[in-house]
Amino acid sequence: MNNRMKKIMGLALASSMFCAALSIESCSGKKEETQPVASSDSSAAFEFEADRFADLQVLRYRVNGFEKLSLQQKKLAYYLYEAALCGRDIIFDQKNKHNLMLRHVVDGIFENYKGDKSQTDWKAFEVYAKQIWFSHGNHHHYSQNKIMPAFSKEFFNQAISSSGIDMQKFAAFGTADKVQELLMKVVFDKDFEPKIVDLGKGIDNVAKSANNFYEGVTQKEVEKFYAAMSKPGDKTPISYGLNSKVVKQNGKLVEKTWKLGGMYDGAISKIVYWLEKAESVAENEAQKKALHLLTEYFKTGDLKMWDDYNIAWVADTSSVIDVVNGFIEVYGDAIGKKGSYEACVSIKDFEASRVIAAIGKEAQWFEDHSPIADTHKKKSVKGISAKVITVIQESGDAAPATPVGINLPNANWIREQHGSKSVSLGNIVESYNQVGAKSPTLKEFAYSDEIIERAKKYGSLSGMLHTDMHEVIGHASGKINDGIGTPDITLKNYANCLEEARADLVGLYYIMDQKLVDIGVMPSIEVGKAQYDNYIMNGMITQLTRLKPGEQLEEAHMRNRALVARWAFERGQQEKVIEQVKKDGKTYVKINDYNKLRVYFGELLKEIQRIKSEGDFASGQKLVENYGVKVDPELHKEILARFEKLNVAPYKGFIQPVLIPVMNGEEITDVKIEYPTDFAGQMISFGKKYSLLPVKNE
Ligand SMILES: [Zn+2]
Repeated sequence: MNNRMKKIMGLALASSMFCAALSIESCSGKKEETQPVASSDSSAAFEFEADRFADLQVLRYRVNGFEKLSLQQKKLAYYLYEAALCGRDIIFDQKNKHNLMLRHVVDGIFENYKGDKSQTDWKAFEVYAKQIWFSHGNHHHYSQNKIMPAFSKEFFNQAISSSGIDMQKFAAFGTADKVQELLMKVVFDKDFEPKIVDLGKGIDNVAKSANNFYEGVTQKEVEKFYAAMSKPGDKTPISYGLNSKVVKQNGKLVEKTWKLGGMYDGAISKIVYWLEKAESVAENEAQKKALHLLTEYFKTGDLKMWDDYNIAWVADTSSVIDVVNGFIEVYGDAIGKKGSYEACVSIKDFEASRVIAAIGKEAQWFEDHSPIADTHKKKSVKGISAKVITVIQESGDAAPATPVGINLPNANWIREQHGSKSVSLGNIVESYNQVGAKSPTLKEFAYSDEIIERAKKYGSLSGMLHTDMHEVIGHASGKINDGIGTPDITLKNYANCLEEARADLVGLYYIMDQKLVDIGVMPSIEVGKAQYDNYIMNGMITQLTRLKPGEQLEEAHMRNRALVARWAFERGQQEKVIEQVKKDGKTYVKINDYNKLRVYFGELLKEIQRIKSEGDFASGQKLVENYGVKVDPELHKEILARFEKLNVAPYKGFIQPVLIPVMNGEEITDVKIEYPTDFAGQMISFGKKYSLLPVKNE
């Protein structure tokens, strides 16, 4: 299974299906006035920016077209919306087994604290609480490192008692003293569970990661456990391990499956309840079948059923309302087996789907003309269904930080035999563009006015096209040699990064191709140049703004972007294809030969495809470690100093719209949409309404 979530545009998308990845801060969108939105939002102009704290900015998005849905579609959307939110507690617990306890403490203090709210400790607590909500726990959603508070222990203890928090709630973790000691370690000890995913080299990546996917087992044991399940030569391999925690009982490894009656039953039973309602108002037979299989999967935990569901879901291409709900992306697991809970409910945007469809239609042409070895090409690229969606609601791993593109399912064999769905999240991208157009980042880091002008003119389009190609033709391209295992087995902890690099390179290679002009999706090759400027600048320079001093690149998409940009830089160093230059003590990058750079991107694409096709772990490891991990401390220091002056948040996320059914007795007669403006308020309200799990789950 590979992943395809990019965090494009400065966000963290993160997983396999949701991918997108540029720094949106650096591509200014069209500077158009915000449009009046027909909705319950009473103001004429929609306010996209809502909150700013730590390294985060919280935005809002609007759902154009919701009012035009039929009543049946609105009901369907509402039921799926509830199903999505019912999984919220799951992601907290998956990330770390202490997160639900922490969430209850943080929610309780935030709501009930009676002390002085003008003091520094309280202000620091507010920031901490918002960070915890944003990351679904106390590890940064993107860097994976532990979030440390700026308030004192004294303040925290006093706040707990003055807020009337009943510590008895946490008795599952031990006696009152034990719970108190544990909570102090969770909040204040930076060496206690320091990293949620530790991809470090030469260590036990399973044991060293603080996520809640494994307990009391080693990486070797887990690998052996799953290797024993896979059948050699299986053409339709099940995604073993996707929906369970692995623990040791009586010296043996066993799975605790996330299903009705299993682990996470409290949340899953509600998800099932809402999915069954959704099935009753499905738009058509294909959708009904898919929703039915999804419900059965949650009931049984049967991964064969999950595959059947995905096949049915891919086949449903005509529904207006669509949904992703399940344990999906495997980025949260160092060895890429366990799926993090996520959900996304959406409306198809027919108008905006034209461009992405035009690219999808030519998938075979792109495959045939790809610079990869002929033996690694797919003879027929199947069923890519590409579209733009308008998001109604995201939850779990997909919120508040969201992908800008989604490409599912993840199982390679389903993609090959049945096709996949690839979508771009149109209204999310719109929000980024609206906010990005005002960002000072581009001006600070772009080498010349020419680059800035090109970015202003084409940055938005080029970013969107690159994402489209990454999703629609990137992940879908290429094939693995017969007898070679899937990348999670062959390339292990480098699989995600290399897969993202491969998909990015397909997009980079073709965005400078006349073909895109010919099929009417871009006006000129200048669009491709804008993307090259942005990609190289981001990979070599601007993405470093997301790291703290001393940190190395960890996250798969960040590693991939550094790998691609630095490899190309080194490849063309003699001929100065890309130059790193200093101007007034500031470092910039400058591309001198765009066509040559395109050739290099093709070379690297060919090599990474070979690595995937042959399962060449050693070469993959070398590429990632040499180009995708290390950070030059001097350059990093300079970039951070420049960025700090701009006061721009390196990460962004969203407040979710709220759906409210209008009732006549038991009957829903309409569904209204509202757009809250208070991030903390939404988190508190979700915390109450969707608190569906015990603090300790087994
Ligand atoms: Zn991707």
